Amino acid sequence: MLKNKEEKFPSELRFALISGDWVVIATGRARKPDSFKQEQRIIETIPKKDCFFCNIETQLPPILISRKGKMEEYPYDYEKKIKIPKDWTIIVVPNKYPAFSRYSEGLDIRKRGLHSYMNAYGVAEVVITRHHTKQISQFKLEEIKELLDVYQDRYVELMKEPHINYISVFHNHGKEAGASISHPHSQIIAAPVIDPKVKRSLSGAKDYFDHNKKCGHCEMNESDRKSKERLVFENEEFLVVCPFASKTAFEMSITPKQHLPYFERITDDQKRHLAEAFFVAMRKLDKGLADPPYNFYLQTAPCDGRNHDYYHWHWIISPKTGTWAGFEMSTGIEISTIEPEKAAEYIKKQTI
Ligand SMILES: [Zn+2]
Ligand SMILES: [Zn+2]
Repeated sequence: MLKNKEEKFPSELRFALISGDWVVIATGRARKPDSFKQEQRIIETIPKKDCFFCNIETQLPPILISRKGKMEEYPYDYEKKIKIPKDWTIIVVPNKYPAFSRYSEGLDIRKRGLHSYMNAYGVAEVVITRHHTKQISQFKLEEIKELLDVYQDRYVELMKEPHINYISVFHNHGKEAGASISHPHSQIIAAPVIDPKVKRSLSGAKDYFDHNKKCGHCEMNESDRKSKERLVFENEEFLVVCPFASKTAFEMSITPKQHLPYFERITDDQKRHLAEAFFVAMRKLDKGLADPPYNFYLQTAPCDGRNHDYYHWHWIISPKTGTWAGFEMSTGIEISTIEPEKAAEYIKKQTI
């Protein structure tokens, strides 16, 4: 029993409106925001001469070369020699060690005893930015815009590949967040199957839409704009918010204000605004938590040819501040040790 009403309960179970997930937010014994700051993280950077991405010739032939936004595309051909210009700023190459392979023909499901399996057909690409150590939080606005141009361009191209139903775009920063090579890079994976997490978020969004005749994300946008307590940044087109049911401490979402289901249809003007939202979010996060490891990823409607007009695309930035142990692994519920409202207040006040 609580002694008085003012005393906060040790934690809250919060319900995520769209995915239907529950998260645990420690409220009573929550940590102070600046206690999440990284303590002199040891960043292992190998010298440039040994870096796979600085020595871009060691990679498979590029699919796309960007020189400050001037893009050139090349068809998949592993034998072809492509002369790489010295002034490249972003290069996309096929992943040398792909989990999904473009050359595993056929999608026929086979049986092995009780179990079913098929070849992991798909396309896996790596988006490499030029500078060996320059992280997204150090990018200029136009460099982020260029990266978004490349994401969109590859997305549109990969949609044309056969059997592709879902395209995942993500970026890992720091060893703790799964970046095995420290040179900044993002990944794009195009797959024939839609993973259960996306499926849940899709069916949650559809159920909400069918039931309320409104989009849940549009409704959350509205409420976050009004209350302002979880709002980190806003421009004409986008909101940066620490979601009510954040899965991790300091999680942020970047959501278009307009109801937009398909990321690949983003206009140039919207991309400029999205670049600004990323710019502010990444810089403030970097400053507030002193270069934390993180993942960011896109959540958008599948490209399976069906109608997903009920969906509302967005990006999630998820800093890695805790380690998943038994409880998290067995339930999928992470115990977040800061209230999203406090996280938003702290991130917002960082000067950049
Ligand atoms: Zn490098
Ligand atoms: Zn919407």
